[in-house]
Amino acid sequence: MKRLRDYLELSFEEIYTVDRPTLGRNADVSLIRALILSIIRYLGFNAASKLYHAGMYFGGELGVSSIDDMKEIFKELGIGIINIVSTEPMVIRIEECVECSGLPNIGKPVCYFDAGVIAGCLEGILGSEVKVVEKNAVLWGMTIANLRYIHYQIKYCKIIL
Ligand SMILES: [Zn+2]
Repeated sequence: MKRLRDYLELSFEEIYTVDRPTLGRNADVSLIRALILSIIRYLGFNAASKLYHAGMYFGGELGVSSIDDMKEIFKELGIGIINIVSTEPMVIRIEECVECSGLPNIGKPVCYFDAGVIAGCLEGILGSEVKVVEKNAVLWGMTIANLRYIHYQIKYCKIIL
């Protein structure tokens, strides 16, 4: 399986380095969302799956070794705040998600990349296959004002916290 650096010839450490003395390392959340939605639009067939797998590669590149590491890097990169809701089945809640928090309810999942990043991180921690499913029931039933977090159900995951 090819890794991110095989395609881009850049490691995560290299892309983490930022040389922007005036603007710094932060960009607006709307730019990230526009980038992801543009990619979905132009990928066409199976775009969601491709974005999920792209997220998995990236998650694997992060090299996290524990849930605490994953929580820390999600917060550090501004992806979102991870809360473990339950372990059997494992359910993770992402608060202040960079991809969806504050978006209007469009009636379908939008956080394919994030779900893949979680899967890639968990596979690195466990050394085995993990599938992350965006649980829409919680999100879609809520009003826009309450649209502040999303749940992911983790399949094939046996982490004891
Ligand atoms: Zn989200």
